[in-house]
Amino acid sequence: MIYADYNGSAPICEDVKEYFIKRLQDGPFANPNSIHRLGTKVLTAMENSRAICAKTLGAKYTQVIFNSGATEGITQVFHSVLDSAKDDGQNIVITSGIEHSAVINCAKFYVNKGYTHKVVPTLSNGVIDLDQLKEWLKEFKGRIALVAIMAANNETGVIQPFEEIASICTKNEVPFLCDTTQFIGKCHFDFQKTNIDYAVTSGHKFGALTGTGILLAKHPGKLHPLVIGGGQEKGIRGGTQNYLGYETLAVALDSFTKNAGKYEDLKVKRLEFEKEIKKRFPQVVILGEDAPRVCSTTYISYPGVHGQAVQIELESSDIFVTTSSACSDNEPVTSKVLKAMGVSDEVGRGVVRISLGHCSPLESYDKILEALTNAYEKLGKIKSY
Ligand code: PLP
Repeated sequence: MIYADYNGSAPICEDVKEYFIKRLQDGPFANPNSIHRLGTKVLTAMENSRAICAKTLGAKYTQVIFNSGATEGITQVFHSVLDSAKDDGQNIVITSGIEHSAVINCAKFYVNKGYTHKVVPTLSNGVIDLDQLKEWLKEFKGRIALVAIMAANNETGVIQPFEEIASICTKNEVPFLCDTTQFIGKCHFDFQKTNIDYAVTSGHKFGALTGTGILLAKHPGKLHPLVIGGGQEKGIRGGTQNYLGYETLAVALDSFTKNAGKYEDLKVKRLEFEKEIKKRFPQVVILGEDAPRVCSTTYISYPGVHGQAVQIELESSDIFVTTSSACSDNEPVTSKVLKAMGVSDEVGRGVVRISLGHCSPLESYDKILEALTNAYEKLGKIKSY
């Protein structure tokens, strides 16, 4: 079996499995906010985990807020920043057109509250048009409440110029939310160096337990709680902490840091795989091919052969891929991300996303190459559209 949907959700990493089994056997279990000995022990373990997460992500310990994942983090930042920005004359929200729906739907929510949503165009290689963003930052000076642009795209894996965006937003005194969900755990990330105001991620994308996540905030005091509760997470997120889950975040991030070399090997194998499949099928298109991409994502299309047909063929060889992001999996249409890149329906309807990661043996690419060759040979003769 080859699991090739890491961008959807990664398998629990081996180090996390080992840690968690022992942790469940050994305990202790208690409320980290209780002041008895067991509570204190649990709190200490959770705070150690926060320190490890801070260190591996280049953040200060106090800048790490534990939560349920990227969707929650994104929503909290939008609500915190946009609840009052309009009163100060800042009524514009800027995103790109390739953001995850967790960002786009927050922006739409605030359009209903009187904000203007401006969408930065995307170039055909999958990178956002930085010049347009720079122009808008000048043109709408003093009126922009928030810029929300991702670090790496979930479909194409294309890395965005987020460090430069952070620097121009800082110069223009505009808060910058960077959706780092697909970047953290695949590439080295340094929160303080990049000067981002807010970054988010989900544990299940890099081998920790699902339902866990991190919101990094340059100035946590500016955040309002989404869940008010009893003042946990320094009043930023109420409710008893999922301390077992948060411990797995630290183990997974630490494991990624120690095994970062493997990602370089995966990148080399991915490039070999892409070169070979294009040699065998010159009509094949790899989306975002010419842009910098995370090490282990290939978004590939055989125009005229439906992506879902390819997915089913690969699944019959026990290879699990998706046709686009998981939430729109059953939509046989060109994805919004590809539309933003100006990709034709002929190419857009043919895509499958192959995304590997930390647990994937390097030989996975050899097996995928053979199975994909068989699928394209079979389906290319009949063409689905
Ligand atoms: N942002 C990006 C880029 C994603 O890929 C995802 C999930 O696919 C999310 C945000 C939302 O993550 P979650 O569903 O874990 O909250």
